[in-house]
Amino acid sequence: MNEEQRKQQAQIRSEEANIERIKNTSSEELIAKYFHAEYEPQAPDIKKARKRRKEDIQFHYDFSIPEDMQRIGEGKKFLIRTYGCQMNEHDTEVMAGILSEMGYESTNVTEEADIILLNTCAIRENAENKVFGEIGHLKPLKLEKPDLIIGVCGCMSQEESVVDRILKKHQHIDLIFGTHNIHRLPHLVKEALFGKEMIVEVWSKEGDIIENLPKVRKGKIKAWVNIMYGCDKFCTYCIVPMTRGKERSRHPQDIIQEVRHLVAQGYQEVTLLGQNVNAYGKDFEDIEYGLGDLMDDIHKIDIPRVRFTTSHPRDFDDRLIEVLAQGGNLLDHIHLPVQSGSSEILKKMNRKYTREEYLELVRKIRKAMPNATLTTDIIVGFPNETEEQFEETMTLMEEVGFEAAYTYIYSPREGTPAARKKDDVPEEVKKQRLYRLNELVNKQSAETMKTYQGEVVKVLVEGESKKDPDVLAGYTERNKLVNFKGPKSVIGQIVEVEITDTKTWSLNGVMAENRVEVK
Ligand code: SAM
Ligand code: SF4
Repeated sequence: MNEEQRKQQAQIRSEEANIERIKNTSSEELIAKYFHAEYEPQAPDIKKARKRRKEDIQFHYDFSIPEDMQRIGEGKKFLIRTYGCQMNEHDTEVMAGILSEMGYESTNVTEEADIILLNTCAIRENAENKVFGEIGHLKPLKLEKPDLIIGVCGCMSQEESVVDRILKKHQHIDLIFGTHNIHRLPHLVKEALFGKEMIVEVWSKEGDIIENLPKVRKGKIKAWVNIMYGCDKFCTYCIVPMTRGKERSRHPQDIIQEVRHLVAQGYQEVTLLGQNVNAYGKDFEDIEYGLGDLMDDIHKIDIPRVRFTTSHPRDFDDRLIEVLAQGGNLLDHIHLPVQSGSSEILKKMNRKYTREEYLELVRKIRKAMPNATLTTDIIVGFPNETEEQFEETMTLMEEVGFEAAYTYIYSPREGTPAARKKDDVPEEVKKQRLYRLNELVNKQSAETMKTYQGEVVKVLVEGESKKDPDVLAGYTERNKLVNFKGPKSVIGQIVEVEITDTKTWSLNGVMAENRVEVK
């Protein structure tokens, strides 16, 4: 046995001893031991979470990688697997930025990685099942490569039941951290590298706003910009207010500076991000400044396209509509989740608007922006949803004329009020409702697409199509995917494309100046 093999054997023995020790300790003891001492460990508990702490959120501009961690990753690679929404995608960009500053390089090959992070989503049960599946798949690799660090982060880590399950059943995980302490990654990696125990640091209290975190953005054409964090809406089905903490807005000057910086780097499009962007600024005590004001300021910046997501109908105010109606770089595609067409279900969901109020908002938006594209999110099979209530969702879908919708079957989330309700709707009925709704969504999308036949649209070219490298793909202002043939030199530019063929979810066309047809 050579020196290297001896070291590996010793490491495996120490791993096994660690696993044995964890197995013999109760999960309560482990949770008490591992949760960050100054933050009380807590399960998602709607009552506790509603009692948001009074302390002000502090802003920090002094993030730096400790000197001893700046080169720790040299010659090593990291891989981050991202589940869920744009917020998670963007958090991944931040973690990639931090790890890169520590000297790590990114890889897509699992076997090559020295650190693997699973940035998880808790919004529905099947999202969680996928992550547990992946955790299981990674076990043989960890046994083969004991120095590999496997971390679980993102929304699932904020759930005590998840942490408990990992501690009990997946001792090959080295590190668990939450959504509020991403900036602690260098310290956590250090502890995981040099310590022998599983590191669990999950803050139940929401974190401060850390402004100067490094980022490695996924592309060079479109960028996400967080404008706020957390959510205070407490829809009765939703885990987000517990996993992401209370609403807290970034200062406008920091957002504007970030957008200007992106312009200087050549980005063509920004999407302003938040769980409930319409509540932006409501937490400011010293200034009156909301999403409308922010959009108005960003409207003046020389960036071709500005989007925002996600809107909550309740806080969508007249000032925002008035600003959006100016057009220009503010695109008139509005994603406005309705969740249900039934006022009774909306009340049970705690959405704080009725079907009629939602329709009134749609009327106002259409009056100011007659060509606005509206898309939405819908949940079917909320506990005890009747056939009539579901039909109201179908009629609302038609009445608004949504051009696309993300549709979901209700998934009970532990700790939310809806999950405690008895539910008399059989799973089969819920599946049928989802199927019927999706048929309607597809029909409406296909009909909208047909109206583009022969039209010339502006496409921001993102790159080669996923299906055919000879075809280019990009999105219109209204977020329609367009495939067309053209020179690779137009990638990153906005070009005019004449639509020659329409499908349910995409358009084919020819470049107005360079007429090469897509088959
Ligand atoms: N904040 C946004 C909003 O209010 O619409 C989006 C939050 S969430 C990441 C995206 C979507 O997931 C929601 O709009 C909702 O349709 C869906 N969702 C949230 N909780 C769910 C649950 N328990 N079961 C099924 N779908 C859910
Ligand atoms: Fe969840 Fe969105 Fe409701 Fe907030 S507003 S609780 S993120 S669905």
